Amino acid sequence: MKNPVRLLSDPVRFVRGVGPVRESMLSRLEVRTAEDLLYFFPFRYEDRRNIQPLSALRGGDTASAAARVVAFEKRKSMKKGLSVITVLLSDGRSMARAVWFNRLGLEKILVPGVRVLLYGKADVRGGTLQMTNPEFEILDEDEDEREAAGIMPVYPSTAGLSQKALRKMIRSAIDDFLPAMEEFLPGDFRSRLSLSGIRDSIKEMHFPSSREDWKAARRRLAFDEFFLLQAGLALRRRRTGEDSGTAPSLPPGERVRKCMNELLPFSLTPGQRKAVDEIFGDMSRCVPMNRLLQGDVGSGKTAVGLLALLAALDGGCQGAFLAPTEILARQHFQRLAPLVGELGAKCALLTGSLPAKEKEEIQKGLETGEIDIAIGTHALISEKTGFARMGLAIVDEQHRFGVLQKHAFRSKGENPHVLVMTATPIPRTLTLTVYGDLSVSVIPDLPPGRQPVETRAVSRKKIPSLISFLDGRMNDGERVYWICPLIEESEKMDLSAAEARYEELQQRFPSRGVGILHGRLPADEKEKVMDAFQKGTVSLLVSTTVVEVGVDVPEATVMVVEDAARFGLSQLHQLRGRVGRGGRKGWCILVASPGTPESRERIEAFCSESSGFAIAEADLRLRGPGEVCGVRQSGITDFRVADLVRDADLLEFARKEAFSLIAEDPDLSSCPKLKERLYSLLGRSLNLVETA
Ligand code: ADP
Ligand code: MG
Repeated sequence: MKNPVRLLSDPVRFVRGVGPVRESMLSRLEVRTAEDLLYFFPFRYEDRRNIQPLSALRGGDTASAAARVVAFEKRKSMKKGLSVITVLLSDGRSMARAVWFNRLGLEKILVPGVRVLLYGKADVRGGTLQMTNPEFEILDEDEDEREAAGIMPVYPSTAGLSQKALRKMIRSAIDDFLPAMEEFLPGDFRSRLSLSGIRDSIKEMHFPSSREDWKAARRRLAFDEFFLLQAGLALRRRRTGEDSGTAPSLPPGERVRKCMNELLPFSLTPGQRKAVDEIFGDMSRCVPMNRLLQGDVGSGKTAVGLLALLAALDGGCQGAFLAPTEILARQHFQRLAPLVGELGAKCALLTGSLPAKEKEEIQKGLETGEIDIAIGTHALISEKTGFARMGLAIVDEQHRFGVLQKHAFRSKGENPHVLVMTATPIPRTLTLTVYGDLSVSVIPDLPPGRQPVETRAVSRKKIPSLISFLDGRMNDGERVYWICPLIEESEKMDLSAAEARYEELQQRFPSRGVGILHGRLPADEKEKVMDAFQKGTVSLLVSTTVVEVGVDVPEATVMVVEDAARFGLSQLHQLRGRVGRGGRKGWCILVASPGTPESRERIEAFCSESSGFAIAEADLRLRGPGEVCGVRQSGITDFRVADLVRDADLLEFARKEAFSLIAEDPDLSSCPKLKERLYSLLGRSLNLVETA
């Protein structure tokens, strides 16, 4: 067969040079088809165009050199089993030596007389220039070495494949399969946005001809990734809007007005005001709201949620408020229930730890509609919980819930409005990708009068003086959190560290209330400890990170975090947000061993920055999207080329283009190739984007 039909979806073993062994090695790199191989991009390049005569090479130089093999020698080294190949080279003016260890078959290739192009690091051994284990290529007799040199791709984690083998396979994939790649962006669109063609771009990514061309190629491919994702999100947002059926229209009424004007002990900040208006706008319509509320720790998201709940009541519906922990659910309930009561409505707390009988009663009340607002934990999602007419579902600290949980929650109503709230800000680029089909409200400000929390990093050696500092704070009636090291993702391991610290601090402060809090305590114990901390009978609370979320004790002024380098910055920011909530000055003391330069950089960044928005950006820069905001598993940020930090502008640009294209031509009838590409992708990754 002379011209076999090549399909990009052909298994990678159809690529010349890929046999069963390499096929299985490639599959470990997730490369299964010819297209996967074309999209398996280098993570760096070596510029080998700098070809030096041997006489110009100095020890320590990394360079290319062209020379002829003069002599070949193979011997066993004294060390057991090591075979050493030494080749003497000449470029007509100078001599050099190249040495390889344990390389089979070189004697057949490097026969005296052949021309080779070498690349590697030179050093001087016994007065002679030597390259050890250099990469090399055989040059044809009349081949120009400058053409053979070029800018060489270096591929990530090659799973036993040599760079050379990979380059060769990719070259044949480019020769044989790349022609089958169809341009899916319309020509006028590409020229308007100055985007290079797809085939050129893929080729340039592997074998760049210049830095400029490579940059253009990278931009095109990164654009593709953003653009296709955003077009998918735009389509999905459109579809949810069309298909989701009618939501109850719930414009704010008397209860909202009364709460805002008379009951809330403060007036809303401009940011809260704007968020509330956006939410009311959505809830007044018959299309279900699907909104993400972002705000820094302490920006007052709960009050915004409360007003939304009241709008649901004003419209004759029930509202539900889901929180990730019992402590937090209880706290919300204690805050909101009296206000809701004042307004003549009934609010109930539903958590897993309630006695069965009580739980059943509340569930009955929700089912009959006798209870208006439910605040609770996962028990709200339980099969046994049903609502008469749930019009609004709020998810607090939404990253703590999985897709299915959020889905189960909203399914308790018939097309309810949905509001999900973050714990800390999320960088804008992540919001646009991970939550790209939601509307977003941002509270950029904090209530007036908040002082920044003073943040210090100290070494473990300082723990004794830290302890006397705490003594002084507690003498003034202030309260202290002491967060124990994060040893593992498992609470069990963290627990033993917390218990040891607890005992030590108890001995140190025999006359003060020292308490311990962790996820394994039974619910009533947790409640007792939190109550005692709120009242002040416990003034030093040793805890694992269960207090991370939302807890609000105004008298708490000091947050000690042990082994701080193990925590993400956003997580530290959450912890820091627990203190300095009353009028008094707050302290956050990070106990950290000096650690790596990276961890030091992170901690320093954290100490000098108080804005959660800036910290989230730093976290993204330093730890990557996977670690930030619990989106690790979503897969949606696994770009092959694009980078959410470096390419933020490109993302905004691609999103604008994608949303306006979908608005103009939702069926993509003007660009069938793009439609095809998008739909084949939607099937794979976009299912993962489900967020609420
Ligand atoms: P978060 O956004 O972290 O969930 P909360 O809703 O827990 O923040 O609010 C933090 C604290 O700020 C609470 O004690 C709340 O009563 C208070 N608060 C909220 N809004 C305002 C406001 N506009 N003015 C003054 N205090 C406010
Ligand atoms: Mg909160």
